[in-house]
Amino acid sequence: MIAAPLPVIGKGALELDGVSKTYGEDRVVDTVHATIRPGEFFSLLGPSGSGKTTTLMMIAGFVLPDGGTIRVDGADFTRVPPQRRGLGMVFQNYAIFPHLNVFENVAFPLRARHVPASELRERVQAALELVQLDRFAQRYARQLSGGQQQRVAIARAIVFHPSIVLMDEPLGALDKNLRYDMQVEIKEIQQRLGMTVVYVTHDQEEAMNMSDRIAIMNHGRIEQLGPPSEIYERPLNAFVGRFLGEANLIEGTLERIEGGEALLRTRDGLALRARFKSIATPGRAASLFVRPEKLAFGGGSDANQVEGTVRRRSFLGNIIRTVVDAGQATHLTVDLPNLSDGPGPEVGARVTVGWSVAHSLILLD
Ligand code: ADP
Repeated sequence: MIAAPLPVIGKGALELDGVSKTYGEDRVVDTVHATIRPGEFFSLLGPSGSGKTTTLMMIAGFVLPDGGTIRVDGADFTRVPPQRRGLGMVFQNYAIFPHLNVFENVAFPLRARHVPASELRERVQAALELVQLDRFAQRYARQLSGGQQQRVAIARAIVFHPSIVLMDEPLGALDKNLRYDMQVEIKEIQQRLGMTVVYVTHDQEEAMNMSDRIAIMNHGRIEQLGPPSEIYERPLNAFVGRFLGEANLIEGTLERIEGGEALLRTRDGLALRARFKSIATPGRAASLFVRPEKLAFGGGSDANQVEGTVRRRSFLGNIIRTVVDAGQATHLTVDLPNLSDGPGPEVGARVTVGWSVAHSLILLD
């Protein structure tokens, strides 16, 4: 077998230009466009089966697209075999070799590229220090925890200095606290090395915590692409609004549209105001979108106000979540920070819920 050459350290720009993949009748990745910048942390986020892994496997070269082009630093990589792409890869199920110790696992990509012994030792040492495993070089997989095994996989992915690293649910098998610590570590390593990371996850918080930009995928398509705060505050449609974080979506009909604002008549006959920048004709079905933490009991001047009865109250630690029935079809979730001034209204209490028009968006389905 001919060994792959050491990859040229490129800039790490990645372009997906109308990339598609069909299995049988199913177009599992449908005309995906994305331009990923050098040094960017870019996440593909979506429900199971939305096409994230298939997209990543096409970038890696393990799956051949049947439409579109993949470019790395401007060069067409669509049909370049995986071992010649020079990309680092980390998968969920560690995939560290059980018969090799930590040192040899990390050295593996360098041996495949015939890196001289002294340089190899230095590079492996540096990669192990980066993931804080330098004291574990002689251990085998069975002597390591899940988190440590995943660190080995990360060290192995970065040891040959790839400009782009692909990660597919790398923290999926770890418990919540360790997961959070590893998110911070991976992000720090990524920033220190200035590498581009394309990261697949179905965990919304993880994507928001780590990413410069997120692509929200659904049925093989990118529904929205942008920085976490933009997607969270200004989802383009109800799917995105619901998928990233908690959302109130109140269905109704557009009644009046004027000056960047619209009046929505809910199914219960309530009149609510919200920001609306698109073009639509009155009478059209739409939803008002507002995040639970933007709601409060009582009302302000520039506010939507709704009366209702508290149906449920949940203690979630940092927040108190209250569900209010404000009609047959209008149920509002109100999240309040857990402050010392009490848990808010009791179940069964009559309340007024208010929120600002500026925090309300009209979404068309
Ligand atoms: P995700 O990573 O978002 O969970 P995947 O990319 O793994 O989604 O899968 C998208 C869809 O493609 C799924 O419906 C899956 O069953 C299908 N799929 C993936 N790989 C294959 C394959 N090799 N043959 C047939 N269908 C596949």
